Amino acid sequence: MTAESPETAALRKKVRTLMPRAKEDLTELVAMRSVADPRQFPPEECAKTADFLVRAFTEAGLRDMRRVTTPDGSDAVVGHAPGPDGAPTVLLYCHYDVQPPLDDAAWRTPPFELSERDGRWYGRGSADCKGNIAMHLTALRALGGPEGRGFPVNIKFVAEGSEEQGTGGLEQLVPLQPELFDADALLICDTGNFSLGLPTTTTSLRGLANVVVTVSTLKGEMHSGMFGGPAPDALAALVRILDSLRDEDGNTAVKGLPGDGSWDGVDYPAEQFRTDVGVLDGVSLVGTGSVADELWARPAVTVLGIDCPPVVGSSAAIQSKVRARVSLRVPPGIDADKALRALTDHLVASTPWGARVEVEAESGGQPFRARTDGPAYRALASALHQAYGKEMVQSGQGGSIPLCNVLADRFPEAEIALIGVEEPGCLIHAPNESVDPSEIEHMALAEALFLSGYASAVR
Ligand SMILES: [Zn+2]
Repeated sequence: MTAESPETAALRKKVRTLMPRAKEDLTELVAMRSVADPRQFPPEECAKTADFLVRAFTEAGLRDMRRVTTPDGSDAVVGHAPGPDGAPTVLLYCHYDVQPPLDDAAWRTPPFELSERDGRWYGRGSADCKGNIAMHLTALRALGGPEGRGFPVNIKFVAEGSEEQGTGGLEQLVPLQPELFDADALLICDTGNFSLGLPTTTTSLRGLANVVVTVSTLKGEMHSGMFGGPAPDALAALVRILDSLRDEDGNTAVKGLPGDGSWDGVDYPAEQFRTDVGVLDGVSLVGTGSVADELWARPAVTVLGIDCPPVVGSSAAIQSKVRARVSLRVPPGIDADKALRALTDHLVASTPWGARVEVEAESGGQPFRARTDGPAYRALASALHQAYGKEMVQSGQGGSIPLCNVLADRFPEAEIALIGVEEPGCLIHAPNESVDPSEIEHMALAEALFLSGYASAVR
């Protein structure tokens, strides 16, 4: 790495001096119990948080900060700031609602109080996604403010108010008010580095095809002693069907779906994966690809539930009708609708003994792959490199972020980048969520460097 430019050094220093303020912000933010579910928490908590954002981002230099009600009834917080003439436009995204604390007893510190322990800051939302709010504020303050140089790009800001509930309000707002989102580069800040201190952009998200398969063989349950043997057992048929979804090596094997994709971004060491997911000693990982291949580049099937008698309460009966809920994660490169059809055909074709089978499609979603060949992506790679002193890597995410698909469909020319402060040590969504303040500092610097670097790259 070449020596740091005076501009970069100055921004680095500025961001560092802003960190105590970031901690104050995060302390206030975490204390607001903004779980966007009125059955669990008073809606005033979300309203207070939205008001905080309006105030804080106005102070940081954005204009026209306001709440916009989305079709699901929650409030997004939006605003903008003009940059110099001819400068590109960057959308900064985050969300201000949080997951409920879940098991209160499992928290070692109060969930809605920012508590420092061993250098990390604990509290619900400290990373997901209030840590990213603190990051945005710090980056904007570093660039703007009375003594700053002003924003080098046009900025649009959107903070979603009900991301964790999956109610899709913001996705529905995109076609209704596209001007709030339209930008050359969209920073979706609700992910994080592959590991602490390793600058990462998430460039791939899996899509989803879910079905419920119902198998019927008899008019009603029959005694397994009197009739077991020749009587076709619906549960036995279902077990066969479900087993056909994986091959000998455990690879997902849905007929007609390619299962040989490979991942060319960051490597996910098998030992680390074993530890991360808590695989028991002696139990092997499944599939013939690398962990990253299996996780981000290949289809993966999971049986989510089976309706059949539970052990307690079961009797000597042959089942007449059973069902299972099957989930298929679909990697980029495979159309989710095509995957759904393939899964349905596979389940029907694998049904033995002429059993009656019905497959009902549930929710689904397309996979997402970020464009990585544009100026914003190059500017981001350079900014992350400067901020961390390390080359940026690409990572995937097994889950989906439907908003990314909606934005990519609506703004096909835009570059969408997924970054943030949520590295694996944050334990987002779990008890004892925390953030490493060094990630907020580095990522805020990277964001500020990106905004400047992108502006000069495009001009
Ligand atoms: Zn989040």
